[in-house]
Amino acid sequence: MFREALEKGVFVVTVELVPGRGAAGPALDAPAAFARRVRETGLGVHAISLTDGPGGGPAISPDVIAEEVAAAGVDPLVHLVCRDLNRNALEARATALARRGLNNVLALTGDYPTAVSGPIARPVFDFDSVQAIAFLKACNAGLEKPGRKPGATERLPPTNFLVGAAVSPFKSREEELVPQFIKLEKKIAAGADFIVTQIGYDLRRYHELLRYLRARRLRIPVLGNVYVLSLGAARAMRRGEAPGCVVGDDLIRTLEAEAAAPDKGKGARRERAAQMVAALKGMGYAGVHLGGFGLKFEDVERILARAEELAPQWEQIVSDIQFGGAEEFYLFPPPESYRPDLPPDPDPLAGLRGGRAGFQYRMMRALHDALFEERAPCYRALKALHQAADGKPALEALGHAAEFASKRLLFGCRDCGDCALPDTAYHCPEANCPKGQRNGPCGGSSDGRCEVFPEKPCFWTTVYRRAKAAGELDQVRRRRLPPRDPQLQQTSGWANYYLGRDYRKRVEESEK
Ligand code: SF4
Repeated sequence: MFREALEKGVFVVTVELVPGRGAAGPALDAPAAFARRVRETGLGVHAISLTDGPGGGPAISPDVIAEEVAAAGVDPLVHLVCRDLNRNALEARATALARRGLNNVLALTGDYPTAVSGPIARPVFDFDSVQAIAFLKACNAGLEKPGRKPGATERLPPTNFLVGAAVSPFKSREEELVPQFIKLEKKIAAGADFIVTQIGYDLRRYHELLRYLRARRLRIPVLGNVYVLSLGAARAMRRGEAPGCVVGDDLIRTLEAEAAAPDKGKGARRERAAQMVAALKGMGYAGVHLGGFGLKFEDVERILARAEELAPQWEQIVSDIQFGGAEEFYLFPPPESYRPDLPPDPDPLAGLRGGRAGFQYRMMRALHDALFEERAPCYRALKALHQAADGKPALEALGHAAEFASKRLLFGCRDCGDCALPDTAYHCPEANCPKGQRNGPCGGSSDGRCEVFPEKPCFWTTVYRRAKAAGELDQVRRRRLPPRDPQLQQTSGWANYYLGRDYRKRVEESEK
């Protein structure tokens, strides 16, 4: 139902419900009950979206609730986060989903674990969302496995996943916003079938996402996230309890005024949600992803009916819902119109360059070009040297010790052996990103600060600044990095590079 509606270009509606913890209770029964009402009434809801440990805490697996929703006659959309799964567990989960016929998946990096009782769970993040999408699409092609005869390969039965990805166009700083779009492109290149936005309340930013996709000639259905926002939820977002959901002062003030009404602001927030649905539909969104704390069937029914009434006025509504700061960065100039049929803008990142690359960065790039590029004069000699040392423990240990000492000093190296430095502007993802993100930022940053360590800038803001200063943004946006190889931990990244063991070899092979 969901897949067919997307394929036919029907304006789709998904409703996100949060099952929560425990094995029983109203929050766990709500999704199937919601699905039954959808079936009984024929309300235009195409999927029920089920979260996977939101906020980084434990929760019942959405897969179990998804089965109940499917049995009640509505398509589930299962969230799959990378936080808790290594690659084996990801395959186990993906194949279990496929076995149960649960094919609609929203692949996400996931919020960092939070303390619920006692210490936090150990985070995994073996894959990022780009790599998880690529993995699910590889499952669709039939995963390769060793065959019975030596050297032969076979394929596992293909799956049939429809894979969604998320993006936040609501980041307020250039160095935070543009990496979101860069990562989005990688998600699309990895095979994402549709996009869902993060929660936001600035329709100009929703529109910017569509402009960006059009400017890049990327055709993919996008669902706008419409969260029916109460004052309590807004304050929780403000306190950073929902990573990546940013609520500004203007919106808080508006919600406070609305909360003084006899219905405590319920009517006003439903009206805003309906306005957003109407505006998003008008500007060319493929659908909406409705959510909200305690969202009921009747709320959704009313919002969708009201959105229909508001449809003719959608262009007037757009300027009413622009809760962004006056000083915020926008990627495009204010639009002349929000209509979907305007000609595409030029690529906003083409040739973008600015600032000055720092001394360390310039030196590292020069060294890289002199030592590691195949056309470099020393390349052959260094490769021969590493080949000669390979398999000789004393020489290997010597080379590794020298490399680790220098990289530890310069980059805080964690000795992963699958060194991404040249692709992350000489800023180490293992040392500087708690989620080890190699393809772009997670969605959790706020005001340029890291979701996990707010006292530090998000790792990707630095990568962006350096890559922009060096005119290398195009390279960053094109290059899709595979998951790092844990077998290379505590081995020499240089040797692995010269001997074709590191991720560059895997990228080259996948690009053939
Ligand atoms: S450094 Fe950036 S990408 Fe990494 S966890 Fe923090 S916010 Fe996310």
